[in-house]
Amino acid sequence: MKNLLIVDNSSVVPNILSDFFSETNEFKIHTAKSFQEAKELIKNCKFFASISNIVLPDALNGELLGLLHEENIPTVVLTSSLDAESIKNMRKANVTDYISKDSIHELKSACTLINLLTYTKELEILVVDDSEIIRNQLEDKLKTLLFKVHTARSGFEALSILDKNKSIQLIITDYHMEEMDGLELIKKVRKNEIYSDTPIIIMTTENNNELKVKFYKSGATDFLIKPILDEELKAKIVDIFIKMKQINEIRYFNKTIDENVITSSTDIKGVITNVSKAFCEISGYKKSELIGKTHRIVRHPDMPKSLYEELWGTITSGNTWKGEVKNLRSDGNYYWVKVIIEPNFDKAGKIIGYTSVRQDITDKKRIYELSITDGLTSLYNRRYFNDIAQEHIEDSVRTNTIFAFLILDIDNFKKYNDTYGHQMGDDVLISVANSLKDTFKRSDDKIFRLGGEEFGVLISAKTKADILKLASEARSNIKFLGIEHEKNPPLQVITASFGLVILISNENNLKLDDIYKLGDDKLYEAKDNGRNRIEYIEI
Ligand code: GH3
Ligand code: MG
Ligand code: MG
Repeated sequence: MKNLLIVDNSSVVPNILSDFFSETNEFKIHTAKSFQEAKELIKNCKFFASISNIVLPDALNGELLGLLHEENIPTVVLTSSLDAESIKNMRKANVTDYISKDSIHELKSACTLINLLTYTKELEILVVDDSEIIRNQLEDKLKTLLFKVHTARSGFEALSILDKNKSIQLIITDYHMEEMDGLELIKKVRKNEIYSDTPIIIMTTENNNELKVKFYKSGATDFLIKPILDEELKAKIVDIFIKMKQINEIRYFNKTIDENVITSSTDIKGVITNVSKAFCEISGYKKSELIGKTHRIVRHPDMPKSLYEELWGTITSGNTWKGEVKNLRSDGNYYWVKVIIEPNFDKAGKIIGYTSVRQDITDKKRIYELSITDGLTSLYNRRYFNDIAQEHIEDSVRTNTIFAFLILDIDNFKKYNDTYGHQMGDDVLISVANSLKDTFKRSDDKIFRLGGEEFGVLISAKTKADILKLASEARSNIKFLGIEHEKNPPLQVITASFGLVILISNENNLKLDDIYKLGDDKLYEAKDNGRNRIEYIEI
C-alpha cells in the first residue's frame, strides 16, 4: 500500500477524501491538521503523493508547499480561493493540480487523479518541439503527473527516439517544425506497428478547421492550441490516460477470462465462431481447428443422444440449458464440464447465436466414476444401478420407448473357480464384461456388474424384436468366447443364463424392485430349464 498524505485543518475534507480512497484500498491515508504535524509525518514516512491545504494556521505563507516540493511529493493543492494570483503561484510551484475544497466533484476528481498517478508513474512520454522553452515547460508540467519525459528537437530526432525506445505511451508534437512538420511525423509514426494506436497530441498556433481536419485524418488523437493552457493540457492527458488505464484493465480482465474460463460462441446452427484459450487447452484443439466446426468435434460417445436433443430443444426455444457433459479431447482422453448455454438475441428478440461457459469438473467426476465403477470389470457397479435404474425406467415410459431389464448369471461358475482357480475366474468375469460391452454399444444402454458373477443391463429400444435380438446376441457372444469350462455341460465352455423383463408400457406402475424380482425369477427359470438360455416376460 502506498502512503498518502492529506493535510487540512478541518476534519471534513480529510474524511470525505478518506472515504473516496477506501473504495480502492490502494492507499494508506495519513492526515495532518497543521504544518507541524505534516512535517512530523513527512520526516517519518515516505509519501507517494499528497492532497494538501497549503494555508495552515501555523504556516500562512505556503511553507508546506515549499516542504512538499523539496521532498518531491506530488501534490494536489486544496484551496478555498481560486483567484488569479494564487493560481499563478501554484502554476509556478508546479503542483500536480489544484482544486477547490468546497466542491465534492473536485474532491472526487482529485482522488481520480491520485489514483491515476499510480498508473502514470514512470510511463514514458515523448515531447517534440523545436523550441527549447516549450520543451522545458512541457517537461516540467508532465513531470507533475509523474511521467518519464523524453524530448526531441525535431521529427527526425523523435523518430530515432521512438525507434530505440519501444515503450512510449504518448507523443506530444509541435506542428510547425523545419524539415519535418508534425503532420509528416505523425504519418511516419503511424506506419510503425508498435505506435499505430499510441495517442498523439499535436500543438499548433493556428486555430483553423481545415488544419484540424488534416490532423485527425493523418492520425492525431487530439490537438492543443498554443499558447498552451496548463489546465487544458492536463485535462486532455488525464482523459487519455484514464481511458488507457480502463482499456488495459479490460484487456487484462479479458486475458484472465480467456485463459481461465472455458467459453465458446456459436452461430444459430451451432457452428463455432469463437472459443477461449481455456477451451483450446482443455479440448486439446487449436482455435483454428475449432472455429467453423460444431461442438460435435468434442462429443463423447458416452453421452446419450437424448441429452443433445434436450439441450437443443431448450436453447432453440430461447431458454438457458445447464448440465454436466463428458467431452472428448483431441488425444482421445475425456474431460467433464458443467455447462451453461445461453441463447443470444438481437434487438427484435430473435436468436442469433449461443454462448456457453463451462467449468472443468473432471476431477469431481473421476472420483464419482470410481465410486460407481466395478474395479474388476470397469462396468458400473450395483450402487450405480440402485441410483439410476428407477429413473431409467421412468425416462423410457415418458419417451415412449420400450424398456427392458436383462439379468444374467454365469453358469456353474463355482465349479469353474474350483477347477481353474480364482484368478482364472476373475479373467472370465472380465471377458464376459467385455463381451457385454461389445453387444450393448449404444450409449443409452447401461451395463452393470450386479455382484459376484451376475450382470445386469438396462436397455431402451424401439421394438421388442430389437431387445430380443440384443439379448440373444449377448448370450451367443458369451458362448462364442469359447472359454473352456469342462464342468459346464454340454458345451464345456463358459455360458450364461438370462432373465429378461420387457416393459412395453408400465400401466401397473411397476417399481424397480418389482422388475428386478421378475427378472431374477426368469433367470432362475432359465437355470432350471437347462442353463445357457433366455427366459423372458413381457408386460
Ligand atoms: P449357477 O449356474 O447355478 O449360477 O451356479 P454357480 O456355481 O455359478 O452359482 P453359485 O452362486 O453357487 O456360485 C457363484 C460363484 O461365483 C461363487 C463364487 O466363488 C464365484 N464368484 C463370485 N464373485 C467372484 C469373483 O469376483 N471372482 C471369482 N473368481 N469368482 C467369484
Ligand atoms: Mg452362476
Ligand atoms: Mg450367482
